[in-house]
Amino acid sequence: MAQTQKECIFCRVLAGEIPGEILHRDDHCFVIRDIAPIAPVHLLVIPLQHYIHATDASPDMDVTLGHLMAVAREMAKREGIFESGYRMAVNQGPHSGQTVDHLHLHVVGGRALELEG
Ligand code: AMP
Ligand code: ZN
Repeated sequence: MAQTQKECIFCRVLAGEIPGEILHRDDHCFVIRDIAPIAPVHLLVIPLQHYIHATDASPDMDVTLGHLMAVAREMAKREGIFESGYRMAVNQGPHSGQTVDHLHLHVVGGRALELEG
């Protein structure tokens, strides 16, 4: 069932209602470490705006998606995984395994990754 914005974990982290170290914040997004990392580096790049999906109708969406990827690149450099490589992933909808209904870009690296289904 879709979470409301009030119940949204990421909106609550942003509001300081749930603990979470914010590694980067700008006018459009913020970055935290995933609470259940699947690799040595596992970050979440999250728009400030409570979009649910990357396909939500918004005149700003294309710019937002580009910005998330640009911030992912800078964070990868900061985390020392830029050269070794990393995966950027967005889960969308039930079959993807999306559990938090607030658009977020996973940035995963620090080990060789398999293509997991
Ligand atoms: P997804 O399955 O794409 O919706 O990813 C949601 C991610 O959020 C999962 O990898 C969770 O481990 C992560 N997560 C859930 N709660 C928190 C939290 N409080 N702080 C950081 N990451 C979280
Ligand atoms: Zn939210």
